Amino acid sequence: MEQLDRVPCIQVNSTNIIACWPHLMKAIEQSHFLAIDLELSGLGDKKKLILKDIEERYKAIGEVAKTRSILSVGLSFFRYNRKLINGSDQTDWRNKDEFCDWNFKVINFELLTLCNEESVLEDESRSFLVSHGFDFDAQTSIGLQYLRADQELNPDVPSIRNLFHQLVNKKVPLVLHNGLLDLIFIYHNFLANLPPKLPTFVADLDKLFPKGIFDTKYVAEHNFKSKGSYLEYLFYQRQRRNLERRVANKPFISISFGSDDSIRDFVVERSMKSIILGDKPEGLKICDDYRQHGWCKKGASCQKSHDIDFILDDEDFYKEPSKTRKRILAKMNLINSPKNDVEMGEVGDSIEIKEHINGQVKSGIHRSGYDAFMTGYCFATFINELSKQKPGKSGKLNFSTSEMLKLNNKIFLTGKKDPLQIRYSQYSKPSSNISKLITETMSPEITKECGIIDPEKVDGSNSVTSEESKSLNSSGISDCDLIVTSETDEISDSLDGTNGTESIDEEQ
Ligand SMILES: [Zn+2]
Repeated sequence: MEQLDRVPCIQVNSTNIIACWPHLMKAIEQSHFLAIDLELSGLGDKKKLILKDIEERYKAIGEVAKTRSILSVGLSFFRYNRKLINGSDQTDWRNKDEFCDWNFKVINFELLTLCNEESVLEDESRSFLVSHGFDFDAQTSIGLQYLRADQELNPDVPSIRNLFHQLVNKKVPLVLHNGLLDLIFIYHNFLANLPPKLPTFVADLDKLFPKGIFDTKYVAEHNFKSKGSYLEYLFYQRQRRNLERRVANKPFISISFGSDDSIRDFVVERSMKSIILGDKPEGLKICDDYRQHGWCKKGASCQKSHDIDFILDDEDFYKEPSKTRKRILAKMNLINSPKNDVEMGEVGDSIEIKEHINGQVKSGIHRSGYDAFMTGYCFATFINELSKQKPGKSGKLNFSTSEMLKLNNKIFLTGKKDPLQIRYSQYSKPSSNISKLITETMSPEITKECGIIDPEKVDGSNSVTSEESKSLNSSGISDCDLIVTSETDEISDSLDGTNGTESIDEEQ
């Protein structure tokens, strides 16, 4: 069931965007949330990224977004999958196993992008990305070209800008990890010129993404009091906690990946699986800098280990070894171990199996597609842990708890106790640029030109039921919505078509 030992990611560039476009559109149409990560050509003066005054910080990051560019965009689409792996369409709420398994169908993309304007490529970013496998030659020759802000290349052909217009049009909830920098870059590079003031920017984001923006770093620190909150730590730690919940018969998430022959040539796969209590070389020491920050200035030449599994083994077991703990970890490992695998090489040739190498971080880390997947995975485990009931029979994700409500539209701010709140008030109105953009993305011609297609006709392996294909119900809310409501809000019951009694049953 666990497929984290082979996480696929579709590599999109100018040579295959036409072939990938229908899959991107289908993913936008069907997903409950989208996790995004960017790779950038530089960060400028890093001290300015953490300026105390938030308005000043916004301006400084804005300057970076105007002079540096986006090298790749990772998109990880998550759809809560009410169909179970065995193909049964109806969830039996009395069956504990089925109740506990929250399956998400995921599709990952990594889009190579090339800014067609002057842009600074910083040496540090260059060597950092090269050390994590980024191919600058490919970026120059087959990157998807774009012009910053609202300059159009061609509104009628598949492009990164049209993709973001579709995200706005379809009102997909966004999930990011430590997302302020990424949001400012996305805004200025793919949507419109940044407004001069932060309150306008915030009001614009609220208008652009009305279904919410979530920041997994904020959630990790404020709701889960996580020891570490850098993405690599969080992902592997959440993976372990998810396995632990499964061992304890608590609701857990499982992930499945769709496959489609027509684009299999563009897929790479990497192992993202945590290896619990794996063989640790005798006398190996863990790097403290890496443990705390997910980063060490010595890089690959560090003599101590940067392996996140060793770091987590240390926290999970070696600090307080006990027989009970070891039994739980052994059970977790059993679930996590590949069962009668493996038709290796079936999809693409680029399978990379993660190995414990002293000083080396796992493969996939700091690639935008995999970072986006890790972000979405963490968010799915947060929903699972904080939601009081399983999503309704129609497959909607319903955040009907006050805990979930607290997560929405709060962006982590480094060095600050309080997050940046995404909402507009009477003092901050959206800019005219964004109001115009939203009107444009609603235009039926653009929708048609961008190739919105009937999802039912694309991929037989994920055929939509008649219930799901009614994309809008009588309340005008899409079946693919992720709904944030308060506990007392009755909207959940009426949308799910369930009565109160069933809801109570589901909670047990
Ligand atoms: Zn180190």
